[in-house]
Amino acid sequence: MSSANVAFRKERKHSALAVAAVSTLTACDELDSVPRGNAGSAPLTTDLGNRIRQGERTAAHIATIKAKIRHELPPHVFRRCPARALTALVLGAAIAALTAVLLTARLPGFSSLVLSVVLGGLYGSLFFLGHEAGHGSVVRQWHLQDALMGIAFLIFLLPPTLWRVWHNRVHHVHTNLPDYDPDNFGWLAAYRRLRSIRVVAAFTPGSGRWISLLYLPTWFTVHTQLVLWFQSRRCRGFESLNRPRAATESLVMVGFWVWLAMQLGPWSSLLVIVLPMMVANTIIMSYIVTNHLLRPVVDDPDPLATSMSVTTHPWMDLIHFNFSHHVEHHFFPAMSPRYAPLVRAKLRQYAGDSFLAPPHLRALRAVFRTPRIHGEHGVLVDPVSGRSIRFADLDSALVAVTGARPRDPRGGEP
Ligand SMILES: [Zn+2]
Repeated sequence: MSSANVAFRKERKHSALAVAAVSTLTACDELDSVPRGNAGSAPLTTDLGNRIRQGERTAAHIATIKAKIRHELPPHVFRRCPARALTALVLGAAIAALTAVLLTARLPGFSSLVLSVVLGGLYGSLFFLGHEAGHGSVVRQWHLQDALMGIAFLIFLLPPTLWRVWHNRVHHVHTNLPDYDPDNFGWLAAYRRLRSIRVVAAFTPGSGRWISLLYLPTWFTVHTQLVLWFQSRRCRGFESLNRPRAATESLVMVGFWVWLAMQLGPWSSLLVIVLPMMVANTIIMSYIVTNHLLRPVVDDPDPLATSMSVTTHPWMDLIHFNFSHHVEHHFFPAMSPRYAPLVRAKLRQYAGDSFLAPPHLRALRAVFRTPRIHGEHGVLVDPVSGRSIRFADLDSALVAVTGARPRDPRGGEP
């Protein structure tokens, strides 16, 4: 019996939550039942499609760009920035202080709600520093990295032990490779075969359903639990995950918030837990949905094909620590995002229109206007309405709003 059939039988036994959980496994489970090289087998006409078909050339192309950028940037750019740990601690202290104010000051309801949103904003900013710490660009010691991540990820119920494997070893190394990366929504064949996929598809941006509006405020926390309890058992690359430790960390986090909520009561819990959690989710997901969902799945790693940056307001870059520079981050994950703008300038120089950084709001609008299921022949498709968009067309539209210079006729080779 194929692994896909086993997954199907197990899926039928699960509860509604498990149904949703298994559905997101499909990107990992279904690869064996779908012809490999789906995105590359179709007669794509763009350079992007050509590069996906020619995996070896792509790898050489990426390696050349990476080496050239590393050579041209000053050495200190690639060193750790321990001062970021102080920034994280200041943010943590601000969160603690604001929480205390919300719990002790007798503020009017509206003022409390505004401060609660600000609290969520602080949690969102802190997440980005936790992400840096997890890549080792802040401090070298693992226990300090874990401590920083533990504080930064607490509101998301995200165990640092899971994050190291999920994000660092699986997502970064195998971005948009369907049998590894849990962060995409899989193939049309899987959608048609598994009811569970159809449940989640309605929730995703681009489905056209009202419920998809809940995606940004909740998905990162929900997805974390799905990866922890379900996807990490099916996707490749999670073999090294210390499950007992990750589960314990998550349960401790959940226990902490449940205990706190029981002490505080409904209104205070809404102000210092629920609303900040949803605001923080919205902030980080407003970047995360633009990172890879508009990009094709591939057979071989290629950060230019599978990742996308956005151009956001300078104040947003300041308070979100340049998380908008995502392709740059995939080129140099261990480099402090403080220097990501330098990499962006080099990518514009050497990658031409293969480097995408459309305006942030335009990218978000594109995510909510395009389907999430990967069909054959290089398309995203909505199986309910039949609506589809070719990556070739999507790519052209994103290049147009990115404002990249015309592509080098030799394919952007430096
Ligand atoms: Zn990362």
